Amino acid sequence: MSAKNTCPICGGNKVKGTTTFTVDLGFGVVVVRNVPALVCDQCGTGRIADEIADEIAERLEMTVNDARKRHRQVEATAYMPA
Ligand SMILES: [Zn+2]
Repeated sequence: MSAKNTCPICGGNKVKGTTTFTVDLGFGVVVVRNVPALVCDQCGTGRIADEIADEIAERLEMTVNDARKRHRQVEATAYMPA
């Protein structure tokens, strides 16, 4: 088993799933749900898969910019695959 597929925290197996990201902007918090990730089947720790990390980062940035413009204290959104 490669280290890439093993959870660094508990050593459990990582499986494809989704995770929730929270970004603290100071004035508020942005929550993005359903982000594709490798999720540990034991402790639930999620990590964005390398192959989509750039795309996810771009989308997170867009969501954060939008929330900043609207001065929302809490912005919750769901990731939509392209
Ligand atoms: Zn784990």
